[in-house]
Amino acid sequence: MIQTNDVAQRLNELRAAALHAVASLEEETREALATRDVSDLLDDDGASEVDVEDSLHLQAQAEARAQAIDEALQRVEDGSYGTCITCGSSISGERLDALPATPYCVTCAGRHNH
Ligand SMILES: [Zn+2]
Repeated sequence: MIQTNDVAQRLNELRAAALHAVASLEEETREALATRDVSDLLDDDGASEVDVEDSLHLQAQAEARAQAIDEALQRVEDGSYGTCITCGSSISGERLDALPATPYCVTCAGRHNH
C-alpha cells in the first residue's frame, strides 16, 4: 500500500526544487542574453550563444520535471498514483522510490525511451 501522505510530501519537495531550478536557470538565461549583446559587440566567437542554448535547454528540462511532478501530485489526489498511465499495471514501490514522479511502469518506460 502506498503511503500517499509521504508521497505527496516528497513530491512537493521535489516540485519546490524543480521550480527553484527553473527560476535560477531563467536568471542564468537572462544574464547570458544580456552579456551576449555586449560580447557580440566585442568579439564574434559565438561562445555565449552556446551558453544561452544550454541554459534554455536545462530550463526546459527543469520545467518538464516540475510538470511531471505536478501530474504525479494530481494522481496522488485522484488515487491513481502508482498505476501506470499507459497499461494500468501497478508500478513497483522500488521504482517509485527511485523515480517518484514517473507515470509509467518499467515495461512502458522502456518503450517510451526508444
Ligand atoms: Zn505500463
